[in-house]
Amino acid sequence: MNEMQFVTQDESQTMAFGQQLGQLVTPKTLILLDGDLGAGKTTLTKGIATALGVKRPIKSPTFTIVREYLKGRLPLFHMDMYRLEDGDMSSIDLQSYFDQGPVIVMEWSVNVLDQLPEDYLRIKIERLDNEIDSTKRHFILEAIGEKNNELIEELKKTSFSG
Ligand code: ADP
Ligand code: MG
Repeated sequence: MNEMQFVTQDESQTMAFGQQLGQLVTPKTLILLDGDLGAGKTTLTKGIATALGVKRPIKSPTFTIVREYLKGRLPLFHMDMYRLEDGDMSSIDLQSYFDQGPVIVMEWSVNVLDQLPEDYLRIKIERLDNEIDSTKRHFILEAIGEKNNELIEELKKTSFSG
């Protein structure tokens, strides 16, 4: 396992990090995003999408489970497993999504942990302090698998290494 941590000072830095990450992803990169409401998950996803050349606006997939953005450098699937918390997998065949080979950004992966591939990049976003208007966010990245190890090594060469 390979890890890294850093703090973004504001929304634009989170976007910038997403763009760095979006330049490094490859087909089948699976990014698990953890963080409370307002942490910055959608903001980060926008950065990734921008770097992939996605022009459509990124919207929350909460009520759709998956949103597919197909016109970028690589296809991007933005998935939200929130509504699957009862373990009701009959409503979605995850493997068929993975098999299409897109970049996947997945929220609420805790609800489908037993269905995930063995390689993924987990990103946890936390508010740094309790002030409601604070714009500092703590990012904790954890890579599982060789490909994602290398991805983190590349990210460590960027300004987000601190
Ligand atoms: P989530 O998808 O996790 O619910 P969003 O990305 O939709 O969160 O919203 C994050 C909110 O927090 C936005 O209103 C954004 O302006 C604000 N914000 C403040 N600081 C940051 C930061 N460092 N990174 C990302 N968003 C931030
Ligand atoms: Mg969101």
